[in-house]
Amino acid sequence: MCVACLTRNSTMKRKESPSPAALALPLAAVLAALALAVPARAQSDNAMQRATTTAGTPSDVVLVVHGGAGSIEEVDMTDEEAEAYRAKLTEALRAGYEVIQNGGSSLDAVEAAIKPMEASRMFNSGRGAVFTNAGTVEHDASIMEGETRKAGAVAGTKHIAHPIEAARLVMEESPHVMLARQGAEEFALTQGMDLVPNDHFYADERRARFLEDLSSDASSSDGASAADEAGVRVRAERAPAHLGTVGAAALDQGGTLAAGTSTGGTSNKRWGRIGDSPIIGAGSYADNETAAVSSTGWGEYFIRGVVPHDIASMMRYGDASLAKAARTVINEKLPEIGDGQGSGGVIALDAEGNVATPFITPGMFRGWITEEGEVVVRFYGKDQYDGPMDGE
Ligand code: ASP
Repeated sequence: MCVACLTRNSTMKRKESPSPAALALPLAAVLAALALAVPARAQSDNAMQRATTTAGTPSDVVLVVHGGAGSIEEVDMTDEEAEAYRAKLTEALRAGYEVIQNGGSSLDAVEAAIKPMEASRMFNSGRGAVFTNAGTVEHDASIMEGETRKAGAVAGTKHIAHPIEAARLVMEESPHVMLARQGAEEFALTQGMDLVPNDHFYADERRARFLEDLSSDASSSDGASAADEAGVRVRAERAPAHLGTVGAAALDQGGTLAAGTSTGGTSNKRWGRIGDSPIIGAGSYADNETAAVSSTGWGEYFIRGVVPHDIASMMRYGDASLAKAARTVINEKLPEIGDGQGSGGVIALDAEGNVATPFITPGMFRGWITEEGEVVVRFYGKDQYDGPMDGE
C-alpha cells in the first residue's frame, strides 16, 4: 500500500476502527516514507525583552485564547498583519464560544478554539510550526479538564495534523496521560486519526528562514556552524523572538473548566527536546476549584517553575485571586528562576469567569469572549492591565 493512499485517501475517521490493512502496515514504514530528508541546521539566538505590566480581569468570560508571547510590537506590525491576527483569534474564540452556547463541554470548546489556529500558518503550532535543528517539524500538545482532572498529552509527533485532538484522545481513550513520538502516532492511527507527511507542516516563511539560516551558517566562521566532538552543531536553541504557541481555556455552562496548549516548540530544537506545552502543570492545567491555565514562553523555565500549577496552588493554598496569583507567578516568580532568563506569559480563567493574561514579553497574542459574546483581542504590552487587583 502506498503511503499517500494511506494518508490521503484513508476512509478512517476518529473513533471508528481502522481497517485491518492499515494496521497491518508497519508504522515505522509509514513514518519512514513520510519523512523528508532535510539537512541539519543552526539558528541565531534571540533573547526576549521584558515588559512589566500585567493583565486585566474582566468578568463573565467563558473562553480565552492565546497565540503566543514574544517580540510582538506595534512598530513591527502592518495593519494587514494586525487585522489577520485579529481575525484568526476572533475565529478561534467564536468557534469555542459556539460550543459553549450550545451547551457543549469546556473540553470541546478548547479543542474547537485551538484547531483553527493549528490549521493556520500564522502560529507556531500545527501547520505553522517552527523547524527543528534537523529541518523537521515536531509538535507537542496537552489538554486537561478541571472537574475530573483528567489530562492527555502528545509529545514530539511529526505526522498528526491536530495534536490537540490526539492529546484529548490520549486522555479519553487510553489509560495514560502522555504519549510520545512514534508511539503517539501509532495510538492516533488506532483511534482513526489520519497521519500526514511532515512537509504538510512546512510554512513557506519558516522554511525560507530555515534555508537562510542554513546558508548563513555554511558561510559563517564565527562558530555558528562549528561542530562539537560528536559532530553535532553546537549553537544551542534560544527563545525565538516570536514563538506563537497557541492555547485556550474555557468555562462551560456546567461550571467545568478546561485548558489546552499546542506548539511546535522552540526553533532549532534538537536531541528530541520537549518543552513545557505537553507537560501537565507546566503547559496546561485545569482544576475547577482554582483555574484553567495555558502557558506560552520559554518552556524550560515554565517546566522548572511548574507555572500553571503554581498559579493554581497560590489560589488553593494561599487564597489568592486569579489575577493576583497569575500576576505574581509571571511577573515575580518566573524571572527569578535559575539564571533569570525565564520569559513568556499565560492565559488563565477561573470558575467565576475572571480572566488574567499576564506576560513579561513585549507582547502576547490574546483574546477572550464573554458570556454575551463580546470579543476582546489584544497584542501588546501597553494594553496590559496594571491597575489594582482584588484585595489591593
Ligand atoms: N513554550 C513553548 C516551548 O518552549 C514555546 C512557546 O510557548 O512558544 O516549547
